[in-house]
Amino acid sequence: MNELTQSNDTYFLGHPKGLVTLFLTEMWERMSFYGMRGLLVLFMTREVIDGGLDLDPVTAMAIYGVYGASVYFLCVPGGWVADKIFGAQKTVLYGALIITLGHYVLAIPHEKTFFLGLVLVSIGTGLLKPNISTIVGQLYKPGDLRIDSGYTIFYMSINIGSMLGYLVCGYLGEKIGWHWGFGAAGVGMTFGVIQYILTKNSLGDAGLLPTLEAGEDSSSYFSIFSIGAIIFALLVFSAFLGVWTIDPQFLNQLIVYLILFVAIFYFVYLYLFADLNKAERGNISMLLLLFIGSVLFWAGFDQGGSSLNLFAKDYTDLFIFGWEMPATFLQVANPLMVVIFAPFFAAFWINLGKRNLDLDTPQKFAIGCFLMAIGFFIMIFGVEVALENEKAGVKWLLLTYLFHTLGELCLSPVGLSATAKYSPKRYKGQMMGIWFLSSSLAAGLAGLLASQSFESGISSMPTLFNQIILALVAVGVILLIANKFVKASADLDDSPN
Ligand code: GLN
Repeated sequence: MNELTQSNDTYFLGHPKGLVTLFLTEMWERMSFYGMRGLLVLFMTREVIDGGLDLDPVTAMAIYGVYGASVYFLCVPGGWVADKIFGAQKTVLYGALIITLGHYVLAIPHEKTFFLGLVLVSIGTGLLKPNISTIVGQLYKPGDLRIDSGYTIFYMSINIGSMLGYLVCGYLGEKIGWHWGFGAAGVGMTFGVIQYILTKNSLGDAGLLPTLEAGEDSSSYFSIFSIGAIIFALLVFSAFLGVWTIDPQFLNQLIVYLILFVAIFYFVYLYLFADLNKAERGNISMLLLLFIGSVLFWAGFDQGGSSLNLFAKDYTDLFIFGWEMPATFLQVANPLMVVIFAPFFAAFWINLGKRNLDLDTPQKFAIGCFLMAIGFFIMIFGVEVALENEKAGVKWLLLTYLFHTLGELCLSPVGLSATAKYSPKRYKGQMMGIWFLSSSLAAGLAGLLASQSFESGISSMPTLFNQIILALVAVGVILLIANKFVKASADLDDSPN
């Protein structure tokens, strides 16, 4: 039998008590994140008279892409800071505080504070998101079979938070005033911070200290961090003062190249210079496959916050019983379905395992890509209906989101726990950052794709969706084939070699 965690703790649904702390913190953080995600593009594209920024959709999608990409990109330094300087627990707290501040800044109705708020939320999320995800894994000892279901429960918190965000921030933002929506996200985060501070002790020593190797010294890393932070602050501050400006679409492209460069650089570094043994290299190869699948998947998925969101607002009949629901309410379909289906998926994987029909993680990812492709296939019909009749019924988006969600469940919780299990021990925080780097690259690509999808109104959508389908199917097939050549083994820390 497997040894259980720190204290054989089964306090919360058979899981360690610390999972409650992480559950609630992540729930509030995701409420604020998805509340914003739902409102962002709508707010930017509405006319000034409706309280919006009156940006054209193409620019708005690019800004959305830059924001999404930055949020997840900052998970890489966020993971590094935790590994090398503060430890995950403290880094999560700093992140949570910065996010809260960001949302309150966003609540101030001014164009400049809007961008400053986005920067703060991005930094805070970068510090919080990868590290809270790593701490989940550290609540369990290597080999503890509860880790997968721990991540499934954690994934539910993400989606409960996301539902709350779309409903509360979405309603307030769209129906009362945009900045009320942004402010509500700040209130949610405040609950999250208070709760985290009060219950942090239950995390024990999971993520308490940086994971330095012998001879490494956190103070030299702190100097690097301080220099980086000062340069970053100067850049943001000078932009805030209007010293320099940049075209959002160009920035979106630039960011995609930058992320691609970082990803390639990091994987090359891991293979060649990180002093990994053969088994660890095998694991990195598998994580590379997951990275590729994840990029394609989320680039499609992120259309939900941008092009599909705008489609919901302007080309979908949102009336139910004479009441026009906020477009953001349609976004609830995804997290709601995740919460409903996640336990079934978890049970399904366990069942397959019991029958020795276990799927490898890349195979699950391939299924995720295929399901995402089916979702877009359905959406093409929805767009055609809207082109013929001005508005389409909600069923098209709902069906699309159903398939996107089924795909997500094959890929996202699985990807999180695979990253926790297969990463070499001393790179765990950073590898979680790399997992989110795939979301970052995806968000940047999604911004470019979404801009393209509105180049000549929604009639550009079917062609684009066809391309996305082809790319998804191609990557799915590549994953299936490459999986045959990759050898990975979980929890090497525990294994004898
Ligand atoms: N929905 C998940 C979350 O919010 C995954 C997002 C992502 O990795 N792009 O954590």
